Amino acid sequence: MKWQNHIVIAGAITATIDPVLAPGAMLGATAPDWLEWLITPVRKVRHRTVTHYLVLWIAAVLFFFLVWDFHHLGQAFSLGGLFHLLTDAMTISGIPVGWWSDRKFYLFGGRLKTGSAEEYMIAGVVLMICALIVWHRPDNRFTPFFFDWGGYYEQGLIDGREWKENRFRWL
Ligand SMILES: [Zn+2]
Repeated sequence: MKWQNHIVIAGAITATIDPVLAPGAMLGATAPDWLEWLITPVRKVRHRTVTHYLVLWIAAVLFFFLVWDFHHLGQAFSLGGLFHLLTDAMTISGIPVGWWSDRKFYLFGGRLKTGSAEEYMIAGVVLMICALIVWHRPDNRFTPFFFDWGGYYEQGLIDGREWKENRFRWL
């Protein structure tokens, strides 16, 4: 999968968990690929091997969520890496589960071709769905330009009729 799609998907999904996580996740979203370049001078790394082991990234996510973290950075970064693997798992080459087996892990049949129109479409659809979710979060801090009619109604600022008339008017 292309880097921009990795970044979009990981950033959008983590933003639905907490927008604070999005920037770190976007950095982690490409990490399994650039970590290969970092390690290569020390030890030759084949593409989609060591840095793409599913168990390692799951372990990293668990560690940063359950054991230790620094300002959510580990959580964000490891989630980004995990989403990288999950989206790579939708492509034809799949990803390795761990070092003990050559078996590949696939999501949705692993039919996606890297750089294909479908890949961009999936990234676009994920982005749209996540944007909707983030906009509709009750603690939404990111849409100062959208009127929150449902919220006004709950707070008793407007009556029911006004809410009904305006609930589809977002601008
Ligand atoms: Zn990759």
